[in-house]
Amino acid sequence: MRVLVTGAAGFLGSHLTDRLLNEGHTVVGVDNFSTGDRENLAHLGNEPRFRFEERDICQPFGLDADWGPVDYVFNFASPASPPEYLRLGLETLRVGSAGVDNTLAIAARYNAGFLHASTSECYGDPLEHPQRESYWGNVNPVGPRSVYDESKRFAEAMVMAYHRSRGVNTHLVRIFNTYGPRLHPSDGRVVSNFMMQALRGEPLTIYGDGSQTRSFCYVNDLIEGILRLSRSEEHLPVNIGNPDEFTILECAQAVLEVTGSKSELHFESLPEDDPVRRRPDIAKARALLGWEPRINLQEGLERSLEFFKGRLASGW
Ligand code: NAD
Ligand code: UDP
Repeated sequence: MRVLVTGAAGFLGSHLTDRLLNEGHTVVGVDNFSTGDRENLAHLGNEPRFRFEERDICQPFGLDADWGPVDYVFNFASPASPPEYLRLGLETLRVGSAGVDNTLAIAARYNAGFLHASTSECYGDPLEHPQRESYWGNVNPVGPRSVYDESKRFAEAMVMAYHRSRGVNTHLVRIFNTYGPRLHPSDGRVVSNFMMQALRGEPLTIYGDGSQTRSFCYVNDLIEGILRLSRSEEHLPVNIGNPDEFTILECAQAVLEVTGSKSELHFESLPEDDPVRRRPDIAKARALLGWEPRINLQEGLERSLEFFKGRLASGW
């Protein structure tokens, strides 16, 4: 297959690209480097089955006669870390609207399959726990996180509209907090912050009292689930994530153990609308895809350690 991956220079997009190339496919990667990193694709410099285009997907592309058909589109382009989508609020709203429209137009034109990277943030600060796909969520439409949450909810509506009115073979994955090598060391997400702080011997920054929860999925598990979903007949959203739930204090403790760091904890104010708890119900993914995660938090952090040490050594 010839596969288009948007957001290919990002954390998840680059892992997905590697996996698709390993399976023998040809990949066209697109990214504007707004939050991505060239380093994530550096190892593909001599790969003949990989082509990279630097572009903003908010501008139409891929429709000219010489661009060529694609068999599948994975739409992963979007700022994803809270500090980054707060910095890039308008860009985040645009990539979830114009950007998603443009990539769906490519899938419609070439009769290609389409999978969109949606998020557990569609559930907002959830009042149902754990979160099932049938839950409609509790989102503040005008709070600081709304640029991301509403962009992602609008994108889901756009994907379903292309499926219903244009017959595009679409898929929606709701991704829960995922971590691993290539998580940007300074994009502000909790695992990258804690790993870098621990390795530097700096205090770990706990927002609020650290009692809020997240459920952390290792990147290889996530990519496996996403590929299975892409080959399924399911068009409605499917949660992919690890249901093992941790408080942020427990996450900090796990990072201290894996790094062997003696860093202290430093408590800071909780960002507005920070979800109190989050945990996926993965019954649908289990039944539909025969998928469940295999790597627990400690093992995943151990597998990520060399990457963060490497970034530290190269000056981050
Ligand atoms: P990331 O920031 O590492 O990657 C996103 C990539 O998209 C970056 O390389 C960025 O430069 C690119 N991009 C952004 N806007 C673009 C545009 N207009 N045109 C072209 N490229 C653009 O983040 P990630 O963690 O890899 O997230 C990838 C996708 O998965 C995002 O859509 C995100 O919302 C979703 N997601 C991720 C998580 C997670 O835990 N990592 C959780 C839920 C959803
Ligand atoms: N968090 C924290 N310290 C940090 C970064 C994040 O305590 O240095 C908390 C944050 O407030 C949230 C959780 O960790 O409750 C997960 O944050 P992240 O930005 O990784 O993702 P989110 O799930 O909020 O999108």
